[in-house]
Amino acid sequence: MTGSGPAIPAAPRTGRADAGSRLLHGLRVRLALLLATMFLVFYLITAGLIYGLTAQLTQDNVDAVLGDTTRPLAARVLKDLDRGVFPQEFVTLAKLSEMYPKVSAIVLRDAQGNVIASTAPRVTRTLAYRSAGSAEQFATRQIGSSWYRVLTLPLQNPYRRTVGYLQMALNQDHDRSSLARLAEVLLLVGGLGILFAAAAGFFLSRLWLRPAMRAWQQQERFVADASHELRTPLTVMRLNLDLVLGQPDATIADNGPWLQSIEEEIHRLHRLSDQLLALARSGGAAAASRQSAVDLESLVMRVAAAFRPVAEAKGLALHVETPAPCAPEESFTLPGDPDGLYELLAVLLDNAVKYTTAGSIDVCLQRSRSDIRLEVRDTGIGIEPEHLERIFDRFYRTDLARAKGSGGTGLGLAIARDVALAHGGRISVHSAAGQGTTFTVVLPATSRKS
Ligand code: ADP
Repeated sequence: MTGSGPAIPAAPRTGRADAGSRLLHGLRVRLALLLATMFLVFYLITAGLIYGLTAQLTQDNVDAVLGDTTRPLAARVLKDLDRGVFPQEFVTLAKLSEMYPKVSAIVLRDAQGNVIASTAPRVTRTLAYRSAGSAEQFATRQIGSSWYRVLTLPLQNPYRRTVGYLQMALNQDHDRSSLARLAEVLLLVGGLGILFAAAAGFFLSRLWLRPAMRAWQQQERFVADASHELRTPLTVMRLNLDLVLGQPDATIADNGPWLQSIEEEIHRLHRLSDQLLALARSGGAAAASRQSAVDLESLVMRVAAAFRPVAEAKGLALHVETPAPCAPEESFTLPGDPDGLYELLAVLLDNAVKYTTAGSIDVCLQRSRSDIRLEVRDTGIGIEPEHLERIFDRFYRTDLARAKGSGGTGLGLAIARDVALAHGGRISVHSAAGQGTTFTVVLPATSRKS
C-alpha cells in the first residue's frame, strides 16, 4: 500500500489564487500611483520653473524696451523744460504716437504730478501716479481688461531738482496671452503626462512584479503539493484505523496488514517532514551561514557505509572509487555545509538503491584544478527521456517510480539540486530507460560566489 493511498483531491486553490491576484492588482495600482505622484512632483517643479523663468524674461524684455525708449525722450524733454519752453515732442501728440507706435501711452506731468500732456487720456486717467522721488519706477497696472507695464521717470535739472515726470506705458496683453497659452500647454502636457505615467506604471509593474509573482505562484504550488502529499498518508492511516476499530474482537495478527500499512505511512510521513525541513534548509543563504571545510571523500565513505547493507540486502554491489588527486596539495576538501552535502549524497545513493533491482552502484570522486566531480552510477530502471527535464522539480515522480511503490516523496532531487546550487555547483543526469542512470555533481573546490 506504500505511497498508493486513495485518490485525494488537492486542496482548493481558488481562494489563494484570488488573494494572489488581488495582491498583485493592489501592488500594480500602488506602483502606478507612486509613478504618477513622482511625475507630478517633478513636473510641477519643472513647469513652475519654465513658467516663472519665461514670465521673468518677458518682463525684463519689456522693462528694457521701456527704459531704452523713455530715457532719451526724457533727456530731450528736460532740456526744453529747463529752457522754459513746452517740450517740442509734445507739441503734436499725434506725431509722438507715430514716433513710438508700440507705446500705449506717454504722459508728461509737472513736479506736482498734474498731467501736462498725454497721448492717451483714457489710459492716463487710471495710470496711478506715486511720487517716485529721484528713482525710476516700474509698475504693472490693469486698466479695464488690459494690462500695462509703466515706467515713471523723474525729470531732474542739473541742480537735482525734480521739475516733472515722464510716464510711459506699454500694453502687455500680447505677452500675457502668450504666457496664458504657455500655462495651458503646460497644464495639458502635465495632465496627459500624469495619465501616461499612471498607465505606464500600471503596465510596467506587471513586468517588474513578474519575478515576485512567479516566486509567489511557486510557493503557492509548493504549499498545495506539500499539503496534498501530507494528506495522502494521513487519509490512508485513517482508513486503515477505521478498519481496525471496526473489528473490536479481532486480534493484532488479524489486523496485521492494516497495522503494517499504518506503520509504513508513519515512516513516509516522517521522511516527508524530514525532507521538507531539508528543503527549507538547503537555500543558498542558509547553507552559506553553515560553511566549513568538508572532506567529501570521507563523507562519501560514511554515506556509502550507511547504504551498503540495504544495497547488499537487494543483491547489489556498491563500489566507491576515489582516485588520488593529481597534485598533492589538491584534496577532496571543499568549503560547504556538511549536513547539506550529506543529504545530497544520501538522496543520490537512496535513489540508486531504490530504483535498481540488479547489478551495481558505483560512486566515483574526481578532482580537477578548480572542481570536485562526483558521479553516482546505477544499473537500475533508468528514466524515460521525457521525464529527465522534470525530475529535479519538487514532488515530481515518474510513473514507473510510482508504480514500483518505492515510497519516495519526489523531494529528494529538488533538495540535491538546491544544495548543489547553494555551493555554487550544479547537478545533471544521464539515463537510458532500462539501462541505468548516472547523476553528476560538480562542486567548486574553492569558495565561489553563486
Ligand atoms: P523520490 O523520493 O520519488 O525518489 P526524487 O526527487 O529523489 O524523489 O526523484 C524524483 C524521481 O526521479 C523519482 O520519483 C524517480 O522517478 C526518478 N529517479 C530519481 N533517481 C533515479 C534513479 N537513480 N533511477 C531511476 N529513476 C530515478
